[in-house]
Amino acid sequence: MKYIIIVPDGTADSPLPELDGKTPLEVANVSNMDYLVQHGSLGRVKTIPTGMAPGSDVGNLSLLGYDPAELKIGRASLEAANLDIALQDDEIAFRCNLVTVEDNKMIDYSAGHISTDEAKLLVESLNEEIDLDYVRFYVGKSYRHIMVLKLHNAREYLNITTTPPHDILGKDVSRYLPHGPQEGMIQKFMEKSKEIFARHSVNDVRIDLGENPANMIWLWGQGVRPRLTPFSEKFQVRGSIISAVDLVNGIGKISGLKVVKVPGATGYYDTDYAAKARYALEALKRSDFVLVHVEATDEASHNGDVEQKIKAIENIDKEIIGPVLNHFNRYDDVRILVSPDHCTPIAKRTHTADPVCFVMYGKNIPVNGFDAYNERLAAESDLYLDSGKELMQFFMKKYL
Ligand SMILES: [Zn+2]
Repeated sequence: MKYIIIVPDGTADSPLPELDGKTPLEVANVSNMDYLVQHGSLGRVKTIPTGMAPGSDVGNLSLLGYDPAELKIGRASLEAANLDIALQDDEIAFRCNLVTVEDNKMIDYSAGHISTDEAKLLVESLNEEIDLDYVRFYVGKSYRHIMVLKLHNAREYLNITTTPPHDILGKDVSRYLPHGPQEGMIQKFMEKSKEIFARHSVNDVRIDLGENPANMIWLWGQGVRPRLTPFSEKFQVRGSIISAVDLVNGIGKISGLKVVKVPGATGYYDTDYAAKARYALEALKRSDFVLVHVEATDEASHNGDVEQKIKAIENIDKEIIGPVLNHFNRYDDVRILVSPDHCTPIAKRTHTADPVCFVMYGKNIPVNGFDAYNERLAAESDLYLDSGKELMQFFMKKYL
């Protein structure tokens, strides 16, 4: 059996007045998704466990059948995995953003989406000037980097409350500094970075060009080494993951899936949808499972852009689901699951923990009598699953 999961990130939405009370999915022309519904099962699944922050880390772990609440994996653990940093038991990783702070206010969580080349020089200067054997900074991409601490009490740092810098734009940063046990050391690194970056030539150039300088690091999203059963052991099938997002690729690495890089996959509206489908089908020649994640729908939601969201949904339908369906014969041993990792309602421009609508199709999957893929019909379906774990137990079951 071949198993394909397609994740249109943040696609699930709520009715919008500008769409006459419909959701983007209801308005979008998604004939392939509708076909899956007409010949499969439409339902809802709670991908975000109660009390957990709705995000793509939690949502995608759920969709792979893991219990994010039990695993307690921090964002930084996944990003470290993506950078092939093998965390040890006495280590903890923090996401280290390069940010712009002015008059003590968070102006830009990305330091003007600084280039990786410039960022590399800044991060290297942190390693040179904060010369302690238990701290190390790793270069990631653009404004997104990693700090690793090696300490006998590393796990205690999990209890520090940290705040994502994109949540405090325009706000006084002193109210959102890391707080809790051992906060002092973390705050000290952030303080020290201001000094180091203030006299860095990269910032002189950026200021001259009218770009936001990276004048501070912001540490958050800490996590330790993830311990989980490899996907292949859990479901007796090997597979791959396709995504332009580091966090999602990190999930692939820690669960033992092969991370397939697709040229032209950008994580934005301009991503090469068709290439993702081609690489997914190629990956299925070598193993039996593939998860294809598409970020564009989520980006459009954060931008509050209804038109782009509808367009991105239609692109996924036409350029990913279409070719996948065409490739397989209806009677082949194949199953397809389409499910967002979490909701990102346009009206809120941020993630919510509400259940998402999914459709499951293929060999031995029952037909439950709906004709279109959208939130409204999914809410009418009896098929409601309480977790991604339950969803996957159903989807991956050999005989139904
Ligand atoms: Zn998002």
